[in-house]
Amino acid sequence: MSNRKSFLSQLVRQYAGSLLLVFLFNALSVLLTFCVYLLIEPFCKLLFTGQLSNLSPVSSYVVSRLDVYLDFTNLSTSITLLIALAILLYFLKSLFAYLTQWFMATLRSDLLYRLRNKMYYKILTLPLSFFSSKQRGDVVSRAVGDTQEVEFTILNALRHFITEPITILLFLAFLIYINPRLTLYVFLILPLPFLAIAKISSVLRRENKNSKQRMGVLISQVEETISGLRIIKGFNAQRKAEEQFQKFNDKYSDTQTRIFRRVDLASPLSEFLGVCIVMVVLVVGGTMVLSPGSSFSPELFITYVAIFPQLISPIGNFSTAFSNYKRGQAALDRLNEVLEADEVILQPEHPVAVDSFKDALTIRDLSFAYADAEVLSDVNFQIGKGKMVALVGPSGSGKTTLVDLLERFYDPTSGSVELDGVDIRRYDIAQYRSLFALVSQDVVLFNATLFDNITLGFPATEEEVMRAVRVAHIDDFVNSLEDGLQHRLSDRGLNLSGGQRQRISIARAVLRNTPILILDEATSAMDTESEHQVQQALDEAMRNRTVIVIAHRLSTIQRADDIVVLSGGRVVERGTHEELMKLEGTYYHYIQIQNLH
Ligand code: ADP
Repeated sequence: MSNRKSFLSQLVRQYAGSLLLVFLFNALSVLLTFCVYLLIEPFCKLLFTGQLSNLSPVSSYVVSRLDVYLDFTNLSTSITLLIALAILLYFLKSLFAYLTQWFMATLRSDLLYRLRNKMYYKILTLPLSFFSSKQRGDVVSRAVGDTQEVEFTILNALRHFITEPITILLFLAFLIYINPRLTLYVFLILPLPFLAIAKISSVLRRENKNSKQRMGVLISQVEETISGLRIIKGFNAQRKAEEQFQKFNDKYSDTQTRIFRRVDLASPLSEFLGVCIVMVVLVVGGTMVLSPGSSFSPELFITYVAIFPQLISPIGNFSTAFSNYKRGQAALDRLNEVLEADEVILQPEHPVAVDSFKDALTIRDLSFAYADAEVLSDVNFQIGKGKMVALVGPSGSGKTTLVDLLERFYDPTSGSVELDGVDIRRYDIAQYRSLFALVSQDVVLFNATLFDNITLGFPATEEEVMRAVRVAHIDDFVNSLEDGLQHRLSDRGLNLSGGQRQRISIARAVLRNTPILILDEATSAMDTESEHQVQQALDEAMRNRTVIVIAHRLSTIQRADDIVVLSGGRVVERGTHEELMKLEGTYYHYIQIQNLH
């Protein structure tokens, strides 16, 4: 609740100037509309009786002010002038109405712009663990869908809260002034159509929610299909995918039909009920005008009938603004869950500067759990500068988690990681991470130029990038492209070969020239030619560096200075290949079973 309040109070504080202008311009616009309606009585009086006596006090006042400019002795000129005045007033009213919308539009888009930026920044800074506990699609739907929902609901509601009360109060006061008794009758029956519309709206809201959920399912299915198209076609599963899609599409379509029918019902129903109420006004008001000795003149009655319908839509808007606002709060809560999630990997208050790796990376009594279950337990070992350490163990033994802890994507549950004798939690996070480069088995490429994909924002010249490209043995490919490094990858580089992707990611690491290289070896085999090129590239990238490798190849493991064997989150053996083979323990059996080569 405090979050929502802070959102609104922040909004009001941040945009106080714009909100005030919206309020002022709207008030002027309403006032001008009101002035136009004040001209109806004198106009009718002139038309019906040819003179301007026996007017209501308000109209008498208006006429007395206009008398200076208008010549009421000439009827047709007067009528023309009254109409000209009405046109002028209406023009000014429209101008101010536009200015109201103009400022509101700036406010809306600016607020959403900030909200989207904030959300994106948060996605970049939140720990990886946040996303592992949430579905990616869910975060995306919050970042896009819920931001939109806040616009449709809260900002719309805010607009109606600011603009409608002035219209309602001013016009209602005038109706009471003209005829309090008629106004009382009208307001006794007015809630009826609103109740009917409210009932339809509440059903609509429920259906809308269903429809959104079902649309989400449809979008996920399309996404899954596009990314899994190769598997779907390869396994001849088109029929199954098509059936599945049709099933979801049927459900979505059903909901949409129900929504369309309800929406289509709302409009004629409210129109019909509105007309009924106007008829009641005509009957009751007409009877009052005709009753003997009545002071309710036909001209005033016409004014009344003209003003009354102007009230219906502001009242409707104002009352739906409340339910919209409530709906928006749900979206806001979902946004806040992301925006106010804890950033558990915190920058220390007084960070220690670090720009080099001098001696050793030490893992001390380290344990770690993602949720409750411990994934790493009591891990102890040291990685000396310039050494190559291989992490070996079955899938799920905790190798990736350990590497993530070394890069401080997570903090240990207990124990620590130290770089040159200092707990890494005391270092400036960005400086510390810049000591590492990662070459991972699943290469992530972006829809950008090769240059941008290799530099990833790292300041480098074309020559420097070309040097890295040569070291990574991807220069033949780059040179074969018409626009070289400026070639733009499409479809996130999925049309490149596995080997090319790997070598681009090696070029990234080479360019950064970091003291520590983390290598997550590919488990899947490539063809011999690519394999050979990638291996050459890796060999060069590893030269003169400290290397931590999640190893799956015997050739890599054999070259390591130190092999750390993990099983069930514990270090079970350590040593060189020869030492460990002699032991005939876990490592020995692992090598036998995996049949590594
Ligand atoms: P390896 O790299 O050796 O295959 P991981 O470090 O990926 O092992 O995983 C170790 C254990 O931690 C596994 O049981 C895995 O299910 C679990 N795990 C990995 N990542 C997460 C995560 N983001 N959230 C929860 N559990 C995870």
